[in-house]
Amino acid sequence: MELSHIVYISVGSNLGDKLLNCQTGIHALSKPSRSVLKGKSSYYLTGPVDYPDQDWFVNAVVKIETSLEPPAVLKELKLIERQAGRTQQAVRFGPRTLDLDILFYDDAMMDTPELVVPHPRLHKRCFVLKPMCDIDPWMIHPVLKKNMRRLLCELEKMEPQQVRFLCD
Ligand code: ADP
Ligand code: MG
Repeated sequence: MELSHIVYISVGSNLGDKLLNCQTGIHALSKPSRSVLKGKSSYYLTGPVDYPDQDWFVNAVVKIETSLEPPAVLKELKLIERQAGRTQQAVRFGPRTLDLDILFYDDAMMDTPELVVPHPRLHKRCFVLKPMCDIDPWMIHPVLKKNMRRLLCELEKMEPQQVRFLCD
């Protein structure tokens, strides 16, 4: 088994038992055969950002080491979302039982119709940057060339968002 890629994944839920949905998703992500869990943030309660008229989210970030290539990781994430009971939604950015997004895949930069990496909105989301800082605050964004702590500070100054510690 060769696990050589480091991937950061954002985990979120704002429907049903949100914390349990996130925990179940994280558990499914760390299948010992192909991916190993290397780090996990605390869980946070966060206000909706992209589509404000909906319930609060529970959010976290995990770091995994995997042998899978980016399209295979995405396929796996979509499978786990479906297993969590996520159905096609009427509203983009609307309520979902589980949302799993690839934030970073090594230092890779890619822009295809299916997959954009690094995630194009991560630096505008405190609910991603705050948990990223739990795991690797000094990690440098490969496009913006700034570390997670700095991106979070800049965003908090520009646009305060609601992110409250929930539990470890
Ligand atoms: P969002 O996560 O943007 O709120 P969805 O979870 O419904 O919305 O994802 C929509 C599509 O975004 C997915 O089907 C996937 O192909 C695409 N996508 C592009 N880049 C990424 C990424 N970095 N991580 C996850 N999905 C991505
Ligand atoms: Mg998604």
